Amino acid sequence: MNITVTPGRKIIGRLAKGEDLLAALENCAREHGITLGEVQAIGAVTKARVGYYNQTERKYYFLDLARPLEILSLTGNISLKDGKPMVHAHVTLSDHDGLALGGHLAEGTLAFACEFAIQEYKSATPLVRQMDDPTGLFLWPYK
Ligand code: ZN
Repeated sequence: MNITVTPGRKIIGRLAKGEDLLAALENCAREHGITLGEVQAIGAVTKARVGYYNQTERKYYFLDLARPLEILSLTGNISLKDGKPMVHAHVTLSDHDGLALGGHLAEGTLAFACEFAIQEYKSATPLVRQMDDPTGLFLWPYK
C-alpha cells in the first residue's frame, strides 16, 4: 500500500523544559489540525522512556532511562488512530560517553531542550491506523 501526498504547512518550534515529548508533539499536531505528516526533533532530555516490541510475545517492553541524554534524532509520523492524530516516533539518544540507545518513543520522556519540526501532508483519503493481525500492531492499512 502506498499513497501520494502533497506537502502542507510546516510548523517548527521548541518545547519547554519539563514537557513530555510525545504528548507535546501530539498536542501540537492536534492544535494545528494536522492528521497526516512527519515529525523530527533534536535536543536533550532529562529522562527517557522507550519501548521495544517483542515480536514473539507481541508485547511492548519499556525501558526507563532516568538520566540526561542527548536527542541525536527523533523521527516519526502523524496519522489518525481512533479519530485523533497520533504521533508514532522513534528516538536515538546518546549518553555522556556518546553511546547510542533508543527505541519507540513513549510518554515519560521529558524535554530539557527540544527543537522540532512538523511537516503536514495532504492526501485524498485519510490514513487511519488499524489493527494488523500478522504483527499485533496498529499500522497503516496494507491495501
Ligand atoms: Zn514504534
